[in-house]
Amino acid sequence: MTSFQTESLLEYLLVEYRWIFVLFILLPMSAVGKVWSTIRNYVVFIMNSAPKMHDQKVKEVQRQIKEWLAGDRSTRLCTARPSWQTMNVRHGLYKKTYTNIKINLVDVLEVDTDKMTVRCEPLATMGQLSKILQPMGLSIPVVPELDQLTVGGLVMDTGVETSAHIYGLFQHSCIEFELVLADGSVVISSKIRSPRVPSIQPHLGYREAFQ
Ligand SMILES: Cc1cc2nc3c(=O)[nH]c(=O)nc-3n(C[C@H](O)[C@H](O)[C@H](O)COP(=O)(O)OP(=O)(O)OC[C@H]3O[C@@H](n4cnc5c(N)ncnc54)[C@H](O)[C@@H]3O)c2cc1C
Repeated sequence: MTSFQTESLLEYLLVEYRWIFVLFILLPMSAVGKVWSTIRNYVVFIMNSAPKMHDQKVKEVQRQIKEWLAGDRSTRLCTARPSWQTMNVRHGLYKKTYTNIKINLVDVLEVDTDKMTVRCEPLATMGQLSKILQPMGLSIPVVPELDQLTVGGLVMDTGVETSAHIYGLFQHSCIEFELVLADGSVVISSKIRSPRVPSIQPHLGYREAFQ
């Protein structure tokens, strides 16, 4: 017996027989998605193709902002990433009325073992970083434990994990942000290059480097 009224047969099946949906649809789809993204990320990193594409992808973010600027600017801006892709349990209804900016910045760009920095795009995940850094015996200072958490999400949402009591919040170990501002320009906010303006908050498309 269900504890609440369902309004359609589909809803009834999803509530009462959720395990069928999970076992035969959700899990296989997740497994296929995981295998595809693991292979894709590995090939992109090994071929070193992401750094060459980075500037072009940032230009695409700028293009969308400039298109918005050319209009009446009656809407606000937000990232186009749908709620179901994020770890956040909040359902982002605001995305329906805001101008959605597509950010196809999903890669780890470069690991510099001399400077001990890693340069990556905002939608690179903890899982991607770990898979690349672990074989080198390296890790970023603060590694929130879920593989799906993104660098951009953790910077904007003040990511934390147990080592944060030593290294601070997730964003505190980032040394450089590449930012697309609301006027469509790109600026670099760097602790090294511009130590007096390290507190600029990241927005939309940027790459990051960790100490
Ligand atoms: C089960 C569970 C476990 C969790 N465990 C941890 C944990 O161990 N440590 C921890 O710190 N947090 C944890 N969280 C919370 C998590 O940090 C937040 O949910 C956060 O939102 C990160 O998720 P995300 O990468 O999917 O980011 P999103 O939810 O996609 O993004 C977070 C915010 O950042 C903004 N944003 C993202 N990228 C950009 C960008 N490029 N430009 C501008 N804005 C951007 C988004 O618009 C959004 O407002 C957990 C959450 C859940 C549900």
